[in-house]
Amino acid sequence: MDYLSRFTKWHQVSYQVLVWTDGKYWQFPINLNTFEQYLGRPSTTEEMESTLAKWREDFPNPKNSEEMVLSQVGRKFYEMFFRNYTRKQWKRDPRDLDASVCGRIPVRTNRDNRFVTENFQALPEEGYTAMFQKMLRHPRITLRLNTDYRNLPKEVSYDRMIYTGMIDEFYQFSEGRLPYRSMRFEPETIQKEFFQPAMQVNYPNDHEYTRVVEIKHATGQKSQVTTIVREYPEDFGPGKEAYYPIPAPDSRELYEKYAAKAKDEKKVTFVGRLATYRYYNMDQVVAMALTEYEKLKSGSSPS
Ligand code: UDP
Repeated sequence: MDYLSRFTKWHQVSYQVLVWTDGKYWQFPINLNTFEQYLGRPSTTEEMESTLAKWREDFPNPKNSEEMVLSQVGRKFYEMFFRNYTRKQWKRDPRDLDASVCGRIPVRTNRDNRFVTENFQALPEEGYTAMFQKMLRHPRITLRLNTDYRNLPKEVSYDRMIYTGMIDEFYQFSEGRLPYRSMRFEPETIQKEFFQPAMQVNYPNDHEYTRVVEIKHATGQKSQVTTIVREYPEDFGPGKEAYYPIPAPDSRELYEKYAAKAKDEKKVTFVGRLATYRYYNMDQVVAMALTEYEKLKSGSSPS
């Protein structure tokens, strides 16, 4: 936060997410409010805890995302909220994804409706583009877009390269292609002040898209119209962007082969979601970048 604050001011936000299924909106992540909606009457933390204790399936060490959710909330909520969203997003059964994928989503027995509970939740005041523009505005930074690093002109030399692209591409797919998921974002402007009751609505069981984001809820913009973005998961391939590594045993095994090669690179540091094949959030990626920077500055060898 301190570091990025050099380049932007912040607009505080508190993300709220709802799920649309069975013809209505549900509070999400699952909490006491969701549980009450399910029961159709008021309840208590104690009742929710004792009910979940009955619903939970016994997986002391969940091996995959299905076991993870079943061990937290049982089959009913798994099928309402997780199974089909996960299949749509990853084109894989939750059984074939690491436990950490669905394990990212908390389950609460209180009434905290926030999506995440970090103390600092904010958007760059003028947006991400403005923040990056400011970051790049420096006499020692030259930006070359649409340039493969292998085709850089001869006068560009380096002592160290920080590579943030796909690690399998760096090695020209020598070990085989790592799997990724891509996404299509479809914006639509609607002649209404608001389209939906929260910034994000997830659609596990309806439509081809996974979610609809109405960012106006977070930015606080005042306008008589609104713009929403529908997110359609897509296969990764030519002309598509790799948005997500796929956390699973098979992809990890392949990534480890590339990671072993990367370890031997003397002049290259791999940073970010694609170069380290990790399903990282923005804060984690910022931390990774700063940590690598500190390592390089202190002269220790790259990881
Ligand atoms: N997930 C789900 N139902 C939801 C929200 C999330 O099954 O309503 C699962 C799904 O597998 C998803 C993962 O949890 O890919 C992580 O969700 P998150 O919202 O963190 O995904 P991201 O914002 O990274 O796409």
